[in-house]
Amino acid sequence: MTKTIMLANPRGFCAGVDRAIAIVERALSLYGAPIYVRHEVVHNRFVVDDLRAKGAIFIEDLHDVPVGSTLIYSAHGVPLSVREQAEQMGLRVFDATCPLVTKVHVEVKRMHKAGMEIIMIGHEGHPEVEGTMGRVASGMYLVESVEDVATLQVRKPEALAYVSQTTLSVDETRDIIAALKARFPLINSPKKDDICYATQNRQDAVKELAADCDLIIVVGSPNSSNSNRLREVAALRGVEAYMVDNASLLQPEWFDGKQHVGVTAGASAPEVLVSAVVKQIKAYGAESVSELDGVKESTVFALPPALR
Ligand code: SF4
Repeated sequence: MTKTIMLANPRGFCAGVDRAIAIVERALSLYGAPIYVRHEVVHNRFVVDDLRAKGAIFIEDLHDVPVGSTLIYSAHGVPLSVREQAEQMGLRVFDATCPLVTKVHVEVKRMHKAGMEIIMIGHEGHPEVEGTMGRVASGMYLVESVEDVATLQVRKPEALAYVSQTTLSVDETRDIIAALKARFPLINSPKKDDICYATQNRQDAVKELAADCDLIIVVGSPNSSNSNRLREVAALRGVEAYMVDNASLLQPEWFDGKQHVGVTAGASAPEVLVSAVVKQIKAYGAESVSELDGVKESTVFALPPALR
């Protein structure tokens, strides 16, 4: 029988997700429905369904946006080609790209302008990777693993730099960077780490949970990169770990014989889902709930001036 629940801290919404959701809500209240959003504004089903009910329409292709509409770019960012297309269509655009993703875009532009080829560490097909690699027309390579580094062929090993997706595993990325530096000793690093503060803090909190828990539940949607990484971080520490979109997906048998259950949430998962998960675990017999002290986060990103 499960005895205790321990909540990770920090968990759930980060500053970039808060801002992205606020941009959609503010645009809806200022301009009325429908508001078009390119890609799920953040990777969470509950959030997306809620915004859809309020009048947001999520699209992947700008051809599905009627002329004269309002369009919002998701927190993951967009390639330059999408910006150009929106401009040609004369759409009213608000950019919900997280400022920490934009920081990587600026870095890519600077490195490219300096004549460097750029290696991006990230996951193929993720919209952030498509957006960041789409900032320049050529000279970018994607690596997903240490094995990819071993087989990578670049044209200019003497003028090479790397950047990374903001939501990767801190430990895995450290290994990939070490492999890049070993293979390409002249490679340039970004000015500041690209993995964002929220990803780093949530992974640190899961490591702390893993030291004391025999089961960890991560609240997050299947397409959320940072939520998947939280589950992996726990599993890599030998703790049984599951990711669920909501409380209805918890399986009672996961809790059989477990004494201490840790609960955390990805950066796009709202606290209401965490509360429902905790309630369900209590219904399975948990007797107490405590919370890690954790790092206090104070980062806040301002809305675009036109939406303030
Ligand atoms: S996880 Fe990090 S990069 Fe992504 S939206 Fe949040 S703060 Fe921005």
